Amino acid sequence: MEIIIGKTAGFCYGVERAVNEAKKEINNNKEVYCLGEIVHNKNVVKNLEEQGIKFIENIEEAKGRTIIRAHGVSKEIYKKAEELNIELKDLTCPSVLKIHKIAEKYSLHNYYIILTGKKNHPEVIGIESFCGDKFKIISNKNELENILPELKNEENILLISQTTYNSTNFDEIAQILTEKIKSNLVIKKTICMSTEIRQNETRDIAKEADLMIIIGDKKSSNTNKLYDISCKYCNNVLFIENAEDIEIAKIKNIKKIGIMAGASTPKEDIQNVIYRVGFENNKKDEKGIEKK
Ligand code: SF4
Repeated sequence: MEIIIGKTAGFCYGVERAVNEAKKEINNNKEVYCLGEIVHNKNVVKNLEEQGIKFIENIEEAKGRTIIRAHGVSKEIYKKAEELNIELKDLTCPSVLKIHKIAEKYSLHNYYIILTGKKNHPEVIGIESFCGDKFKIISNKNELENILPELKNEENILLISQTTYNSTNFDEIAQILTEKIKSNLVIKKTICMSTEIRQNETRDIAKEADLMIIIGDKKSSNTNKLYDISCKYCNNVLFIENAEDIEIAKIKNIKKIGIMAGASTPKEDIQNVIYRVGFENNKKDEKGIEKK
C-alpha cells in the first residue's frame, strides 16, 4: 500500500499565528477571553481551554482582554468592544483584513458587492458588515442567475470571495458575470493563496488515489471544500475528524491512499491518522503473516 500525504495538510499561516499568539496571551495576562472557537477544531479549543482561555459567544460576556480569531468579526463587534471598554487582541488573518478593506473602499464608492461564500459563516458575517447596503452573498452559480436581473440596474459591481471559497467555482461565476453584465465590473479573487494551493494539491492527489481521507472538523468550511473536491475526482472518500473515526474495513486492501487535512487540523491529528492507516495495513498475525 502507498500513502500520499498532502504537503499542505494542516494549519495554514493564519491559524498557526492565531493559536501561537493565543498561547502567548495566556502567559501574559490574568484572564483571556476568545470570541468564538479559535479554530473549528475541538481538540485545539479544548487544549487552549485547559490552558486558561475562556471561550465566549458574545462580546458582552468578556471581562478582560479578548482575542478576535482568524475569521475576523463584524464592524459592530469592534464598536461594541470600544463601548464596553474591552481590550482586543485582534488575530484576524491578514488575508481576511484585506477583504474588509476592499469591501469598505468599494462600498464607499457605491459599488454593488457580490460576495461568494457561505452565508452565516463567521468570516462572511464579518466581511458583509463592510459591504455597505448593496450586496449579495452567493454560494454558487445558480444563485448568481437569480440576481442577474437586479444587477442590470447597477453601474458598478465588485466581485469578491470568502477566503476559503472553491477556486474553480469562483472562476465560473466571474466568467458568467463578464459575459452577461454590461456594468463596470471589478473582480478581486480574494481566495487566500494557502487555500488555493491546498485545493489544487487535494485535486491532484484525489486524481491518483484509490481512497482519499480528509481530516478535519465537520464545521470547518475549508475542510468541507477539500471533501467536495476529493469526491469530484475520487470515488472513495472518507471525511473524518480523527484517527478513531477510521473504519478499518474501508482502508483494507487499498493500493493508494491519499491523505489531506484542512487549515484548522493540527499536526498531531494528521500524524495519528497516518500512523493508524499504516499500522492497520501492516498488521500481521502471530505467525508473521499479513492479516487480510
Ligand atoms: Fe488566513 Fe487563509 Fe488560513 Fe483563512 S485559510 S486563516 S485566510 S491563511
